[in-house]
Order: sequence, then C-alpha cells, then structure tokens
Amino acid sequence: MILISGCSSGIGKALALALHARGAAVCATARRLNTIDDLAQQGLMTLALDVNDSASIAAAMDTLDARGVHLSMLVNNAGYGLMGPLADISAANLQQQFQTNVLGLLALTQAVIPRLAARRSGLIVNIGSVSGVLTTPFAGAYCATKAAVHALSDALRMELAPLGIRVMTVQPGAIASAFGDTASNTVQISDNSLFAPLAEAIAKRANASQQRATPARVFAEQLASAMLATKPPSLLRIGTGSRALPWVARWLPRPLRDGLLSKLFSLSKLKQ
Ligand code: NAP
Repeated sequence: MILISGCSSGIGKALALALHARGAAVCATARRLNTIDDLAQQGLMTLALDVNDSASIAAAMDTLDARGVHLSMLVNNAGYGLMGPLADISAANLQQQFQTNVLGLLALTQAVIPRLAARRSGLIVNIGSVSGVLTTPFAGAYCATKAAVHALSDALRMELAPLGIRVMTVQPGAIASAFGDTASNTVQISDNSLFAPLAEAIAKRANASQQRATPARVFAEQLASAMLATKPPSLLRIGTGSRALPWVARWLPRPLRDGLLSKLFSLSKLKQ
C-alpha cells in the first residue's frame, strides 16, 4: 500500500489517481476527509491525516495495522509556501511553515520507517522543490524548508539503505495546483512595512509556481512511473523550470544571479 499525504488537491490528488490507475494500492490521506471523497468513490482507501498532529499520525497507523495493511511506500507530499520578505514574517507563521513542511514530514516518516524496515523493503518519496535549490527573494522561509527537506532526504537515504528502504527526493518545478492561491493568502504586508512598495513583486513571487505550470496530471504520471520502476531514481526533477533553475543556482556566478533575481522582483525600488 502506498500512503500519500496531502491528497485534497494538486500533486497529491493527481498522484493518488495516477498510481491507482496503474493498479497500485493507494491510501490517500488529507486533513479533511471530505476533500478526498471523490478518491474513495473511485476505490482508493482514504484516511484522515494531519502531519502536524501526532495523534492523527498515530491513529492513521493504528487503522492501517488494524486492517492488516502493509505499507510499501510513503509519499511525503503535504506542504505549502509561506511567502513574504523575511523582515516581516512572524515567528508563529515561520514556526508553522517549518512544522508542516519539515517537522511534520519527519514525524510521519518516523512512524512509517519501522513498518517498512520490518519487511526490509520500501520507498520513501519526499516532495522537495526547485525552490530548495534556487532561493529567491520573498520566498526565503519556504525555500529554507525545502532545502531542509532535501538535507533530510539525503541523510535518510544513507541511513535507511542498510534496512532495505530507498529514498527518493523529488524537486518539482512549477506545477498547476492550489499552491499559488495558498501561498498568496499567506502574504501579510502592513502599510508601514519597509517592503510595502514591493507588494506587487511579492504577490508575483507568491504566484510564480502557477506561471506556465506543468499540469499536475502530467507531473503525476512521470512520478508514478519513477516510483514503480525496478530501480527508482534517488533524485527526480519534473516540471517547468525544474532543470533550468538548478542550473542557474549551480553555474551562474552569485553576483549575476543575485542581480537577476533582484531585478525580477523589483528590489531596486527600495533604494529610491
Ligand atoms: P496544493 O494543491 O496546495 O496541495 C497541498 C496539499 O498539502 C493539500 O492537500 C493540503 O491540504 C496539504 N497540507 C497542508 N498542510 C497539511 C497538513 N498539516 N497535514 C496534511 N496535509 C496538509 O499544492 P501542491 O502543489 O499540490 O503541493 C504539494 C507539494 O508539492 C507541497 O509539498 C509543495 O511544497 C510541493 N511543490 C509544489 C510545487 C508547485 O509548483 N505546485 C512546486 C514544488 C514543490 P489542505 O487542503 O487541507 O490544506
């Protein structure tokens, strides 16, 4: 059984359907069970799961155990983007961002590891982001969480290999989903913020993932193929910009890169 977090929309829902269509047994999860009623109607197993709630994680594991379900794969997909200049982000919002994208991901992973290790096999797929490779202005918090996901994945890959468990890091580019709307709703710029003149550029960054975005269904088909391959890759980059942006991060000299991104997000306006 493949357990996926965050199936209410976007990548999670599309991946659940793509894997189900290929005959894989899928347990689709979401915080609000009613958001995945459509998946239940199509024959997928569904469970409530909030990655930030240890009781919710434990209850989901208990349900799987009680039904005699053996997990073979976990997809850590749940996440969102907190946007805005770092100078303005509240401690509470920052904590919530790291809680969901990093700590929640690890908490669910820790619950699943013993179940995979018991059978000396399995695959853990962590949905990172191209944003964890190339940091941009106004997405510093989100980029930091995804860089952390990549680091956790690297350590897990080495630590779990002797137990027969593989780890795949996925770094999507721009994928059509609810991500842009959710990210846009996180922006809080007060009128007296130093960054108030850049409200438009901040809004542009918050919705950047939805520009020329790869359809979630197309993304999901490619990811499903990679997951079901005999030897799943340890790193997968899919979607608009997923190869070009890491190239920019790696090869463009830092002053040039900073200059381009600063211009793209109108930072020079702050000098006036
Ligand atoms: P999405 O449509 O907004 O889906 C995000 C999912 O995460 C939703 O199902 C949401 O559930 C769920 N979620 C949020 N907090 C949760 C929690 N505490 N517990 C359980 N589920 C939670 O966006 P998406 O693009 O499909 O995002 C999926 C993943 O891909 C995220 O990790 C995101 O960072 C990553 N990603 C997306 C893009 C892109 O361009 N779209 C690019 C790179 C990486 P609710 O409906 O309950 O909020």
